[in-house]
Amino acid sequence: MSSKITFMPISYTGWGALEQLTSEAERLNASNILIVTDPFLEELGMTQKIVEPLEAKGWKTSIYTEVVPEPPLEVGEKLVAYTKENKFDLVIGLGGGSALDLAKLAGVLATHEGKVADYLNLTGKRSLTDKGIPKILIPTTSGTGSEVTNIAVLSLESSKDVVTHDYLLPDVAIVDPELTVSLPPKVTAATGIDALTHAVEAYVSKNANPVTDGLALQAIRLISGSIRTAVEDGENKEARTNMSYGSYLAGLAFFNAGVAGVHALAYPLGGQFHISHGESNAVLLPYVMGYIRPSCEKRMKDIVEAMGVDVTQMDDQQASYTCVEELKKLVADVNIPVSLKGFDIGEDALDSLADDGIKQTRILARSPMPLEREDIYAIYHAAYSGE
Ligand code: NAD
Repeated sequence: MSSKITFMPISYTGWGALEQLTSEAERLNASNILIVTDPFLEELGMTQKIVEPLEAKGWKTSIYTEVVPEPPLEVGEKLVAYTKENKFDLVIGLGGGSALDLAKLAGVLATHEGKVADYLNLTGKRSLTDKGIPKILIPTTSGTGSEVTNIAVLSLESSKDVVTHDYLLPDVAIVDPELTVSLPPKVTAATGIDALTHAVEAYVSKNANPVTDGLALQAIRLISGSIRTAVEDGENKEARTNMSYGSYLAGLAFFNAGVAGVHALAYPLGGQFHISHGESNAVLLPYVMGYIRPSCEKRMKDIVEAMGVDVTQMDDQQASYTCVEELKKLVADVNIPVSLKGFDIGEDALDSLADDGIKQTRILARSPMPLEREDIYAIYHAAYSGE
């Protein structure tokens, strides 16, 4: 079977990579620049770090700070309308996945008719026809990998939907771990497990190939080896750097191989209970992997080995059970609840979660084990009871 592999054109990675911003903006012929970020990063003074060198060049900058975590569709509609009115020639996204996804939408839809809703994957009727205005994405969390993917996620009333097309890929990604030092432990943990989930799901995906396998396993090594330290000691340069590279690699892996059951079931948790994307993935990761374990024992052996466990004396089945235990331990070690009860979700919610989970057909199609509604209910139930 052949595979399409897409890497976006240019990335700068590593401590101090932000220095490349001005020359890249120049290369892209920018003069009227939109910066999409969230109010908290503005308060932290991070926005100024990028505005000053751009304004020193004599370029006009406009800072849009109406980004909220897990942005609802309406927030996207408002930003896109603002972008169309102002004729920007470059969009810079600065922030976590929420800001980056909105920046991608603003950039691409600046040149399209209609609303964001028209382009949604599940319910939209229009297709993107061009890449819009240039986009530079600068992540400040080590989590979503949005800086290298062709997806923008929006929250709807009871779940999430995406706009997805290669036109959403940025022209440049700047992945500078220094920008993540200010992340509090709770966000470091949630976003870090999100990145780990991308790598794990990409590795067991039906669409995995040798390229994505290499990216995913290296991401698993880096993230599982550094996340505990990054949570405990946010100023640890090595841990922050490893997390930054890990989330970047995991983004490349899942963009090309896809995510599956964990994400499909996490979206309704985010939509119905407003649990952050990272925590939604984290609480489900051990249970989805536990359920689909028989379909991918050998791959789970590779995963747990990449997590640093000596598997030489284990057969595939034993190692796959150990993998589930290690994932659960990791989630607990970074202080994320390992049961839905930890998020005050009662057993009465499981039916409606399963009703929304089964709608994520595009994502579920990549699961190595087919998941029907009864399977999805069983997984939510396991995550509820913690077993
Ligand atoms: P986020 O962008 O919502 O940010 C979470 C919180 O962290 C915010 O309050 C933000 O202000 C704060 N924050 C960000 N950087 C900080 C820093 N350096 N210091 C201190 N605080 C900081 O979180 P996220 O997990 O990065 O993004 C989640 C969104 O991304 C969701 O909507 C999710 O669905 C989406 N997502 C997109 C993709 C993709 O490929 N496009 C993949 C996965 C998830």
